[in-house]
Amino acid sequence: MHSNVELPDARLAERVGALRDEGAFEVARRTRTLSASGRDVISLAIGEPDFPTPVEIVEAAVRALRDGETRYGPPEGLAELRDAIAQSHGGASRSVHASQVIVTPGAKPALAYAILCLVAPGDEVLVPDPGFPIYGSLVRFAGGVPVPYLVRPHGDPLPDDLTFARLSPRTRVVIVNSPHNPTGAVASITGLARLAAAVERHDLTVISDEVYARLLHAPDDSNAAAPLRAPSIRAVPGLASRTVVIDGFSKAFAMTGWRLGYGVFPRPLARAAGLLATNVHSCVPAFVQRAGLAALESGDAAVRAHRAELRRRRDAALQALSGIPGLSCAEPLGAFYAFPEVRSALRTTQETTEELCDRLLRDQGVAVLPGTAFGANGTEFVRLALTVPSVRLLEAIERLGTGLAQAPPTPVARRTGRGRSVSSGGAA
Ligand code: PLP
Repeated sequence: MHSNVELPDARLAERVGALRDEGAFEVARRTRTLSASGRDVISLAIGEPDFPTPVEIVEAAVRALRDGETRYGPPEGLAELRDAIAQSHGGASRSVHASQVIVTPGAKPALAYAILCLVAPGDEVLVPDPGFPIYGSLVRFAGGVPVPYLVRPHGDPLPDDLTFARLSPRTRVVIVNSPHNPTGAVASITGLARLAAAVERHDLTVISDEVYARLLHAPDDSNAAAPLRAPSIRAVPGLASRTVVIDGFSKAFAMTGWRLGYGVFPRPLARAAGLLATNVHSCVPAFVQRAGLAALESGDAAVRAHRAELRRRRDAALQALSGIPGLSCAEPLGAFYAFPEVRSALRTTQETTEELCDRLLRDQGVAVLPGTAFGANGTEFVRLALTVPSVRLLEAIERLGTGLAQAPPTPVARRTGRGRSVSSGGAA
């Protein structure tokens, strides 16, 4: 058998050409190479918490391995975990049934299954721009057409009335992400209600990516019984049957490498997504699912500690960024990113955001992502992942300020327009 890379292009199925790489993983690779060569590099590139996975979660996996949970399991996921997920989303009203939950190796496969189930060739899908680049990549892979909607760092990261006024009759799905990567914006309850009305009016389905839902910077921690999650469009009356929720354990529980996520699907779609699970990944390892169960049963304290630390970092980062001329940053309300605008700095240095980020890594030893890794609307931004301790974070921001203050050392091709777009896609 040939691997794909050995196949001549002509033998590759056309759909493969629609897929995009992930820039964050590419920058992470370059950062590792620089570090291995002895450079002191601070990476704010990849969206991965630096916290260790909480010990009770690790212990649950070890116990399951020792107990011999090493065989195939149900493709849709272990019944106990599906139950616990249903409960965590349905709350006291038990509005989610375990049969609607499909457990997947990370949130990404749940996203892929939802898109493959919902998007037919030629269908249009509203995707956030800037936004997680995998949305557009998967929509194109399914034969659909991603239609970007503008997300501003301030306000609701949702499509506005103008987007709906211009909607094509081919539009089937809208993808929303709150808290939002890369801006950290969080959708308000009124914003979600307005979106829900438009979704019903235009007979759409929503894919609601909630992987950062537990990571709010200003949650109601005064009440231990208060929900730990950002508001979801699924909770708007009438929307549950039109919404697929994508979520997982990577971000809030510091479990990126465990590969554990899930989708909560409307009933008929759950059956289809379950078939995709059988056809593609068979099942998630049982010991990983036991870890997920432990996370849901006893991980709340760890999540509260993670988000308290992330909030301290956010506050420190905002203060440090506010001291850098030519840069302005909206206050992120969730997730663990800052998305400062660098327009006037770029005007001064006559660089694109990609050139700036390359130079920052090369000359200052700080890795951040160009806003274009998240779409054409990111041309004048950079993304910082707040995933290193505050002391290092502040050092990284100081390096960023030094880099912004310097003109590029060698002449670069001067561009006047809106900068080139990044085809390598974006960022975890
Ligand atoms: N959705 C968004 C918005 C993300 O930022 C990421 C990861 O960066 C994912 C989904 C994928 O999460 P997972 O690691 O669980 O596949």
